[in-house]
Amino acid sequence: MQQTVMKADRLAIMGQLAAQVVHEVKNPLTTIKGFLQLLKEESHNFPKQQEYLDIMLEAIDHANAIITDFLQLARPGCSCWKRYAPEKLLSEVCLLMESEAALRDITIRQVIPEVLPPVWIDPEQMKQVLVNIIKNSLEAMPEGGQVTIETSCRTQELLITISDTGMGMNELVLENIFEPFFTTKASGTGLGMFIAKQIVHKHQGDIKVESVPGKGTTVTISLPILHREGGMP
Ligand code: ADP
Ligand code: MG
Repeated sequence: MQQTVMKADRLAIMGQLAAQVVHEVKNPLTTIKGFLQLLKEESHNFPKQQEYLDIMLEAIDHANAIITDFLQLARPGCSCWKRYAPEKLLSEVCLLMESEAALRDITIRQVIPEVLPPVWIDPEQMKQVLVNIIKNSLEAMPEGGQVTIETSCRTQELLITISDTGMGMNELVLENIFEPFFTTKASGTGLGMFIAKQIVHKHQGDIKVESVPGKGTTVTISLPILHREGGMP
């Protein structure tokens, strides 16, 4: 019953987004078609051909990124709800992100108190949330910097804050950050934070963003602390 309800929710969200996804994917396809036509017409202009091929490869990557991100919503994540130790979740996510961070000259620092209560989560989905957030942090620090992941405990909830020393964002971006397909990046999909919010809400948690342009951004996730077995309704 639990899983059927969750599947219905997911399908409803996907249904609402489907038309937009088709639209977003059509843009790069139109680009590719246009440049293929140019290639055909300008078959003797070799330097131009290389330029057109690069544009087409970028368009293919973009379409691929939109479809891949959209599928994060489709993936049932086996709906494996588990009693999970927050420190295990965080160390697994850090491991996933470490090499990309190192390549960008960014260090990921973890601040974890000694004792943390377990949470009742779908670990694969929750990892996806943290990966989406940390990826944004990495992308916000083109010159390198630091990501700090801090975990703390309030009476009824676990708080995970992810802070970066990146470019931050203005009010307009902040207001739209959870809107599907809202992006300020040339090759962004605008789905990362939308999906993160969907998943956190499915866990009966909350997600908030604070940012200071030029200084950095802090994303705070709160999750209910485990009091009982069984998936969240
Ligand atoms: P995408 O990363 O594909 O653009 P997201 O939904 O992940 O889509 O993020 C939406 C937008 O929010 C980004 O394009 C960026 O402008 C802004 N954003 C999100 N996280 C950060 C961050 N840590 N620092 C600065 N801007 C951010
Ligand atoms: Mg993103």
